[in-house]
Amino acid sequence: MTATNHALTGALIGLWSGKPLVAVPAALLSHFLLDMIPHFGPRMSVVQWLRTQRFRWMLAADFLGCVTVVILLFVHKPSHWLLACFTAFIATSPDLISYPFFKRAQQDDDAERFNWYTKFASRIQWFERPPGAIVELAWLIGASVLLWQFLR
Ligand SMILES: [Zn+2]
Repeated sequence: MTATNHALTGALIGLWSGKPLVAVPAALLSHFLLDMIPHFGPRMSVVQWLRTQRFRWMLAADFLGCVTVVILLFVHKPSHWLLACFTAFIATSPDLISYPFFKRAQQDDDAERFNWYTKFASRIQWFERPPGAIVELAWLIGASVLLWQFLR
């Protein structure tokens, strides 16, 4: 799923639980559970998609979404907000492992076979297609509404 959806979910886990020993592993687990839910993916191959300008714009927007979550937590400071910032990061972080794949994919059509994590990730993300954007949007709205309950 998008990094923003991972970050929102991680933040909610931190706010809900308030207990680092529970929230941190749960946030990490949430990444893989969320990726198993059908979600957005390009029509083309992943390697081709990573070379497009559209992907870069989406990445930038997604980064801004994550920053917004952290800023909202910082400004409103609900209880356990610092834990929530950390679990937001933990929930998003597995995608950082894909950065070398992103770099390699710019040149190499067969980049996927060099990256064990990307192989694993593409296996659990069994449904990544354009209509999955609806799921992403629904998750974004639902999680934002829940987050807002903590911020008011
Ligand atoms: Zn992922």
